[in-house]
Amino acid sequence: MNPARPSQADAPPVFQARGVRKVYTAGELDVVALQGVDLDFHAGELVVLLGASGSGKSTLLNILGGLDVPTEGTLRYKGWDLSGGERTLTQFRRNCVGFVFQFYNLIPSLTARENVALITDIAPDPMKPEEALDMVGLSHRLDHFPSQLSGGEQQRVAIARAIAKKPEVLLCDEPTGALDVNTGITVLEAVERINRDLGTLTIVITHNAAMADMADRVLHLSDGHIVKERRNEQRKAVTSLEW
Ligand code: ADP
Ligand code: MG
Repeated sequence: MNPARPSQADAPPVFQARGVRKVYTAGELDVVALQGVDLDFHAGELVVLLGASGSGKSTLLNILGGLDVPTEGTLRYKGWDLSGGERTLTQFRRNCVGFVFQFYNLIPSLTARENVALITDIAPDPMKPEEALDMVGLSHRLDHFPSQLSGGEQQRVAIARAIAKKPEVLLCDEPTGALDVNTGITVLEAVERINRDLGTLTIVITHNAAMADMADRVLHLSDGHIVKERRNEQRKAVTSLEW
């Protein structure tokens, strides 16, 4: 069990989404991926986002991370208006956000340390690659190449790469989607540890409802709407989740 943590719900939200709609135009057809989403996120929260395939989870996460923009609605992060143009979005992505995807996208010809160093070389106030890899339990794999690492280890390198610039926000899109249960647990433990030790606002997409208990807050997305929201009085350690 994690020690009691101060409630972040009392602090003002850092992220505010209001009336966020996203419409994709594919040929003659419009696909409405988000139909008016209102959400607040607080600094340091760990939020799990659940929903069936096609419900709009990735679309929402990409918009929160500044990879995409809403068709309608507004998005604010602290004082920044993220509907306010490409320059703001670029700054926001570069300085504030780390992304982890289902597939790790490591560079095969670079070691774990070098993959992380790609980011630490360009960030303003990064950790050392060794420090980031230590946070995900890979101190003993610094000089291994991706092909010499298991899927879970590769995903943890990807997490180290995402957090090495000390982002305020960590966004994970089905980080365990390609992994078996036990490997998935080691990856989620790394995510949990980063959220706890660095206080990073962390949003994790999954379609595995068992993961909900590790969160401070659980959001359910269905057909482009937030249909349910739950706050966990106490969150469970990843190792005690029932899969
Ligand atoms: P999820 O991540 O929950 O599976 P997505 O956000 O990827 O859902 O997709 C939501 C809806 O938007 C789906 O109907 C999907 O087909 C559609 N969609 C996603 N991306 C695009 C795109 N680039 N062009 C057209 N439709 C898209
Ligand atoms: Mg998705």
